[in-house]
Amino acid sequence: MTAFSPFNITLWYATAAPAPKTERLEGSVRADVCIVGAGYTGLTTALELAKAGVRVVLLEREEAGFGGSGRNAGHCTPTFTHYSLPELRRMLGEPWAERLIERQTRANDRVAAMIRDYQIDCEWVQNGYVMGAPHPRALDTIREKVKTYNAVGARTRFIDRDEVADLTGSPRFQGGWLHEEAGHLNPLGYARGLARAVLQEGAKLFTGSAATSCERDAAGGWKVATPAGHVITDKVIFTTGAYTVGGWPKLDRTFKIQRVFVAATQVLSPETRVRVLPNNTTIHDGRGDIFVYKYNAEGRIVASMFPMGRRGREMAYTRQVMSERLKWLHPQIREEIRWDYIWFGELDMQYRTVPRFYALAPGVVALTGLSGRGVPTGSMLGSILSEWALDRPEGELALKLEPLKAAPFYMTFGPALTLRYHRLRDNLATRLSGTPLPPHA
Ligand SMILES: Cc1cc2nc3c(=O)[nH]c(=O)nc-3n(C[C@H](O)[C@H](O)[C@H](O)COP(=O)(O)OP(=O)(O)OC[C@H]3O[C@@H](n4cnc5c(N)ncnc54)[C@H](O)[C@@H]3O)c2cc1C
Repeated sequence: MTAFSPFNITLWYATAAPAPKTERLEGSVRADVCIVGAGYTGLTTALELAKAGVRVVLLEREEAGFGGSGRNAGHCTPTFTHYSLPELRRMLGEPWAERLIERQTRANDRVAAMIRDYQIDCEWVQNGYVMGAPHPRALDTIREKVKTYNAVGARTRFIDRDEVADLTGSPRFQGGWLHEEAGHLNPLGYARGLARAVLQEGAKLFTGSAATSCERDAAGGWKVATPAGHVITDKVIFTTGAYTVGGWPKLDRTFKIQRVFVAATQVLSPETRVRVLPNNTTIHDGRGDIFVYKYNAEGRIVASMFPMGRRGREMAYTRQVMSERLKWLHPQIREEIRWDYIWFGELDMQYRTVPRFYALAPGVVALTGLSGRGVPTGSMLGSILSEWALDRPEGELALKLEPLKAAPFYMTFGPALTLRYHRLRDNLATRLSGTPLPPHA
């Protein structure tokens, strides 16, 4: 990693616990399972398999957490991004929907257990997540969420206008949804801690070791080549996500990229911190054009948005939009807001916004398409991919295996259009209800 890498400008690079010492692969190494890509998905799969006594080699092109796992905003909310649970059931059918819902909604149990068991130093706090209702029409959606998520065992509840104001410090919401099991963390610290756990359990992790090809070897297994070595293995799992570079032909066509950015303020004054998110929860402002934020351990607000028009293109304007949105939500903030860090990343979007599991060849699979809620999702996917590697019958897995398929063309502009549509709908509902709109809405 060079000093000028864009990776260096993330807050997490400046604040995460150091990475464990790793080396690049040189020469030949033997494995039962070779995993390509050390984000949460690859790391948790390696961890599960190493614990089960499987010989695992994990190959990473850069360093653990280089992709989305080291540069996300750190929100860990065990829900689905776009679709409601009834919509997911309609799209995926049974038994797939129920199995995936169970893994996703229980994902934070796994996150909390891994952090506890391996003493991962990553600023983990599990103080809940609030989604605000910006106008009265949003209250019905929230009541529906309480009903459907609680029916599958999640601990969520409706909170009224006063409670939402107490919890968040914002007077702008008509009510809200509290998900008590949600948490937040330092994402790069978490990825590095998982890498340390993987090594501790006896797996091998090679960094700076891009998989350049994967071919049948003479003995009927697979040979995964890197620039200076190779892995001879029975099974291969690609978990290279939005940051896929080579490894298997056309794997990078299974998703389309949606850019997103994250920014972190200066460390805020104690006066602001007792008035804004006093309980250190995560907050989603409930808008179609979302604004999600939380504190890091130092007391900076870390917020994320999607680029739209000038926002994300012109940095001074982007900072202005973010400051005005934050101050509108929290009129009690007196100090000037600086955004000391701002960085961009990429999401691997799928049209159903759930991960897709591909059978590439006998003994070779790939998983892409986390579509943006990857902290809990990547953390629970290790349980599914390790079951595949341990020969659990396909029909019993929590994700359906399917042939490699390119994402539909419309996904190139679909997520950006969907965002605009939701913004429009939300603005209309706000205007019709007579509630005020935030600046730049
Ligand atoms: C800016 C941003 C903000 C986000 N905010 C949140 C959030 O707050 N909450 C949340 O839940 N989700 C968030 N996400 C999504 C989440 O970070 C990702 O979905 C998740 O981290 C993906 O994990 P992964 O393991 O699938 O892939 P990644 O973490 O992207 O890991 C893939 C790895 O594969 C490696 N690789 C690629 N090609 C090769 C190769 N040929 N050989 C070897 N290695 C290779 C890459 O270098 C990379 O390290 C955000 C994402 C971004 C970008």
